[in-house]
Amino acid sequence: MESPIKAGPMRVLVTGGSGLVGKAIEHVVEQEGGKLEGEEWIFLSSKDADLVDVGQTRAVFEKYRPTHVIHLAAKVGGLYLHLKENLHFLRDNLKINDNVLQTAHETGVGKVVSCLSSCIFPDKTTYPIDETMIHNGPPHASNFGYSHAKRMIDVQNRAYFQQYGHCYTAVIPTNVVGPHDNFSIENGHVLSALINKTYQAKKEGTPLSVCGSGAPRRQFIYSLDLGRLIIWVLREYKEIEPIILSVGEEDEVSIKECVDIIAKALDYKGEIHYDTSQSDGQMKKTASNAKLRRYRPDIVFTPLTEAVKMTCGWFESNYDIARK
Ligand code: NAP
Ligand code: GDP
Repeated sequence: MESPIKAGPMRVLVTGGSGLVGKAIEHVVEQEGGKLEGEEWIFLSSKDADLVDVGQTRAVFEKYRPTHVIHLAAKVGGLYLHLKENLHFLRDNLKINDNVLQTAHETGVGKVVSCLSSCIFPDKTTYPIDETMIHNGPPHASNFGYSHAKRMIDVQNRAYFQQYGHCYTAVIPTNVVGPHDNFSIENGHVLSALINKTYQAKKEGTPLSVCGSGAPRRQFIYSLDLGRLIIWVLREYKEIEPIILSVGEEDEVSIKECVDIIAKALDYKGEIHYDTSQSDGQMKKTASNAKLRRYRPDIVFTPLTEAVKMTCGWFESNYDIARK
C-alpha cells in the first residue's frame, strides 16, 4: 500500500496548542530547534475553532490543510472537576476526538498523534500497567466519562488503520507538570492546584489544605520532556498501538512527597493540613515505560524537584497571566 504520509516538509496542526502540553511543544519547536527546514507548525486554541463543533473543525482544517496533526485538545481537569462533570467530559471529548480524526481522514492527513492519559487504565489491575492493558476492565469511577472517551481514540485509531491504512496513533502520558498549566485551586490537577494553594497560603499566612490523605501515588513527567517525546513520536514512531510516555516506576511519588517538594520550592514553612473528608481518587496507576525505553534508551528525564521548581518560578513570574 502507498504511504499515506504526504511527501515534502510537514505542515503540523497542533490542536490544544495553547495548553500545558501544547505550549511545551511550541517551546521545543520554536526555541530548541525542533522545527526542520521548510516545516510549518500551527498551534490552535479554542478561539481558532471549537472542536466540539464539526463545522468549525472542518473550517480550521480547510484553512491550514495540515499534513500531520498532534491532537491534544480536550476537556481536561483535576479529580474534583471530574467527580462533578463526568457527562460533560464524556460528551465533549467524544465529539472533539471524532471531529478531529474524521476531518483529518477527509482532508488527507497522513499521520495523527493523539493524547490519551494513564488515568484511563483499568481500576482493578496488576502493576505496572502497560500499553496492552488499556481496555482490560472499567476505569476508576471518579473519571469514567473522560476515560471512556479517551479509550475510544485507541479504538478509532485501529479502525482508521484497518479500513484506510492510516497511521493514526496515540501517546499515553502520566501526570504532567510545567509552565502554562491551569493553576485553578478548584479545577486544576494536583501539582498546579497545590502550587497555587501554597503560594496563597504563604501570602496570606494561612495553613495549606491538601485534599485527601496524601497517600496516593503518581508519576509526573515535565511538560518539556513530554513535548520532545511527542515530536519524536510524530517523526519516528510507526506503530498504531499507543506508547506510554512516562518516567520510570521507581520515580513514582506520593502526594505527600509532592507537597513537601512544593513547600520547599516556594519556601513555605506554615502549617499543612490533610483534608481526609475529600476523595483520594485512584490510589495509584503505576505505568511501565519499558516500551519507551526500548525505543529510546537514551532518554534522561528532568527530576521532579527541578520540574516543580521551574513550574513554581514560572507561576510566580507570570502570576497575572497564569490560568487560575
Ligand atoms: P490544558 O492545558 O487544559 O489545554 C487544553 C487545550 O485544549 C487548550 O489548548 C484548550 O484551548 C484546548 N481545548 C479545550 N477544549 C477545546 C475545544 N472545545 N475546542 C478546541 N480546543 C479546545 O490541557 P493539557 O494538560 O495541555 O492537555 C493536553 C492533552 O494532554 C489532553 O488531551 C489531555 O487529556 C492530555 N493529558 C494531560 C495530562 C495532564 O496531567 N495535564 C496527563 C495526561 C494526558 P483554550 O486554551 O482555548 O481553552
Ligand atoms: P488524577 O491524577 O487523575 O487523579 O488527578 P489529579 O491531578 O487531580 O490528582 C488527584 C490526586 O491528588 C488525588 O489523590 C487528590 O486527593 C490529590 N490532591 C491533593 N490535593 C489536591 C488538590 O488541591 N487538587 C487536586 N486536583 N488534587 C489534589
